[in-house]
Amino acid sequence: MHIRFYAFVSINNTIRLRNGELYIRISDLLEGAPDSVLHAIAHILLAKLYRKPIDRAQSARYRRYVGAHDISAKARLVRQMRGRKHIHTPRGHHYHLEEIFDDLNRRFFHGLMGRPQLTWSRDHARNRLGHYDPAHNAIVISRVFDHPRVPRFVVEYIVFHEMLHLKHPVKLRGTRRCVHSGEFLAEEKSFPELMEAQRFLKRL
Ligand SMILES: [Zn+2]
Repeated sequence: MHIRFYAFVSINNTIRLRNGELYIRISDLLEGAPDSVLHAIAHILLAKLYRKPIDRAQSARYRRYVGAHDISAKARLVRQMRGRKHIHTPRGHHYHLEEIFDDLNRRFFHGLMGRPQLTWSRDHARNRLGHYDPAHNAIVISRVFDHPRVPRFVVEYIVFHEMLHLKHPVKLRGTRRCVHSGEFLAEEKSFPELMEAQRFLKRL
């Protein structure tokens, strides 16, 4: 079985059987989708391949998710057409965001999360710690935190928080994407230094 995320122009998933092997392509817009949605996609693709009826609950689950995501796909296209934002660098003076991401990915996500672009922001904004930019599939972290007086676990916490946004996507409202579901908050609690990190950020 060969499965990979693929940058289709629109949300699309394909399955083919060749010489006894399955070739599956899932739209990269579905990267980070919850397990239940990936399960629904697997069900739908296999049902299609073997011409079996598709369970209605599964197709409804998939459509609900894609319905919410269609908005972000369109927004992404529009923003890409309007001009590219410059993505800077994951390597700061003190912290390397890719290193931090890979480490968190191993510790909390079984290494399964696809790495988006990671970059320190250009400015030193304090009001926005970090955000995920779906138009460029980039996690942007405020440059103020690339500082020796900021403990590593604080940077880790901010990146972890954004990774949870990738895992628990929400509908776009303008460019804001900061909605924390119960599921999101429960998973955030698995970060060992959560309290200390939040206390540090409040003092800023
Ligand atoms: Zn958030």
